[in-house]
Amino acid sequence: FTPPVVQNEPLRHYAPGSPERAGLQSVLTKMQQSLPFEVPCIVNGKPVKSSSTATQVIPHDHAKHLCTYHEADESLLNSAISDALAAKKEWESMPWNDRAAIFLKAAELVSGKYRYEIMAATMLGQGKNAWQAEIDAAAELVDFLRFGVHYVEEIYKTQPPRNAAGVWNRTEYRPLEGFVFAVTPFNFTAIGGNLCFVPAILGNVVVWKPSPGAVYANYITHKIFLEAGVPPSVIQFLPCTNDTAPSFVAKALSHPSFAGLHFTGSTHVFRSLYKEIAIRTGEGKYKGYPRVVGETGGKNWHLVHESAEVKNAVNQSVRAAFEYQGQKCSALSRVYVSSYLWNKQGGFKDLLLAEIKKIKVGSPIEWENFMGPVAGKPAYTKSLSYIQKAKDEGGEILCGGTGDDSKGYYVQPTVILTKDPKSLTMREEIFGPVLTIYVYEDTDFEKTLDLIDETSEYGLTGSIFTSTRSVLIHASHRLINAAGNIYYNEKCTGAVVGQQPFGGSRASGTCDKAGSGSIFGRFLSARSVKENF
Ligand code: GLU
Repeated sequence: FTPPVVQNEPLRHYAPGSPERAGLQSVLTKMQQSLPFEVPCIVNGKPVKSSSTATQVIPHDHAKHLCTYHEADESLLNSAISDALAAKKEWESMPWNDRAAIFLKAAELVSGKYRYEIMAATMLGQGKNAWQAEIDAAAELVDFLRFGVHYVEEIYKTQPPRNAAGVWNRTEYRPLEGFVFAVTPFNFTAIGGNLCFVPAILGNVVVWKPSPGAVYANYITHKIFLEAGVPPSVIQFLPCTNDTAPSFVAKALSHPSFAGLHFTGSTHVFRSLYKEIAIRTGEGKYKGYPRVVGETGGKNWHLVHESAEVKNAVNQSVRAAFEYQGQKCSALSRVYVSSYLWNKQGGFKDLLLAEIKKIKVGSPIEWENFMGPVAGKPAYTKSLSYIQKAKDEGGEILCGGTGDDSKGYYVQPTVILTKDPKSLTMREEIFGPVLTIYVYEDTDFEKTLDLIDETSEYGLTGSIFTSTRSVLIHASHRLINAAGNIYYNEKCTGAVVGQQPFGGSRASGTCDKAGSGSIFGRFLSARSVKENF
C-alpha cells in the first residue's frame, strides 16, 4: 500500500466573480435560510437527543442561533465509553491501510463534497471570513488527514535495525489500552477533527467533547468521518456546555479506562485536567500512565530590529495580530520594536497606523471585511477590560480601544503603546484584537532579549525581523525557549501542516507538534518482539 504522494491542499482564492465564490456563497445563503440546525449527540453512529439543550450563537449576529445542540449527560458518557471500548478490538485489528483509506476518503470529502458546508459553518459559527475558513476548515483539515496517513506509514515502517543470526526483532505499534478523550477548541475547525483523527488512525477509540463555540462545524466533521467509513462507535461525539463541562470532563477522567488526553484550549483548563490526571495516576486509579497532550495559550511576540525591512515587519504584524481577530493561539500580541524604526518618518509607527486604518471590521460573511466578531460575550468583555487595564497602567491607545456588541461582538483593532515592558498586556493572553507595543532603545537590544525571555511565561510563537544574519542567529539562540515556532522575517501565525509542525512549550503546552509525525507516537504503545528461530 502506498498512500498518494502528500501535497498541501491548494488554497482557493474566492476572487470576485469566480465560481468558487459563487459556490461558497450559495451554500452560505442556503445555510442561513435553514437556521437553526439541530445537533444531537452521536453515539454508536446514532443521534441521541437529551432533555438538556443549548445553542451555538452566531457571533456576528447574536440574536440568531446556528444550532441547538443536545447536551451529553454522564450516563450517556458512560455508555458511550463502554461501547467505544467494545468496538476497539475490531478497529485496532483492522489492517492499518484500511484505517488509512477511511481517513483519506474523509480528506476527499472535506476537499470536495463538504468543503463549502464546513466552511460556511465555520464562518457563521466561529466568525471567520472566507479566507480564514478556507485555510482552517478546508485546507488544514485536509492536510492533517493526508499528511497524517503519511506520517503513520513512516512510523509503522520503522523497525529495529539489527537482528542477530537466527533472530527476528520487530516492533509492533499498539494503540493505547483504553480510550482517548479529545477536548477541542472553538477557534479551529481543523483542530477538532485532528485531535480525534490522530489517535483514531492508530486504532484508538475516541470520546470527543467539542467546544460549544464550534459544535456545528465539528458535527459536520463527525458526519464526514462516519460517511468515510469510521465505524460507528470509534469516535463518540458528545457536546456539552461550558457550565457542565467541568463535571462532564471530571467524569471522563475518572473512568478507569481513560488512557490519553488530546487537548487544545486554555492553559488554565489544561492545568486543571493535568492535575486531576496526575492525582489519579499517582493513586493508581488507571491501568497505566495516561498520555497527556495539550496545546494551550500563547503570548506571542515580534522582535523588530533596527535593520528590519520595515514595510514587511508592519504588514506581517498587522496580519498576525488582527487576522481572525487575534483568536489564534499563535496570534501576535506584543511587539518589541527598535526606537529608530518606530520614530523615523514613514517608519513602523506611521505605517502601522496607516495599515490599520484600512482594516474593515464587520460581518465575516460579507466579502470585504478583513476582521469579524470575537467569539462571544466573554471574549468581547475580556478584550475591552484588558484595554481598560492598559489605560489604567498608563498605556497610550494609538488606535481602536472600543467595541460594539449591539448586533455582533465587534472589537476594533487596538494598539497600545506602553512604556512598561512588564505591563499586563505585555504578559497576559487576551485572545482578541489587542496589540501592545514596547519601543526599545537600540543600545538596549541585549536587555530586550532578556526581557522577552523573562516575560515569556508562554512559549508558543515568535518572530525576529532583521536583515542582519548575525543578529538573527544571536537573537534566535538567546530566545531558544521563548517560542516553539519561531519565524524569521515573517509573521508568527499560519503554521502549515507538513511544513511548520506546530506547538509550544512552557505554559503553551506539551510541544508535541500538531501536523508532524512525532505526535502520533504519543498515542501509541510499542511492543518489542524478539523471536528466535
Ligand atoms: N496553527 C495555527 C497557526 O499557526 C494556530 C492554531 C491555534 O490557534 O491553536 O496560526
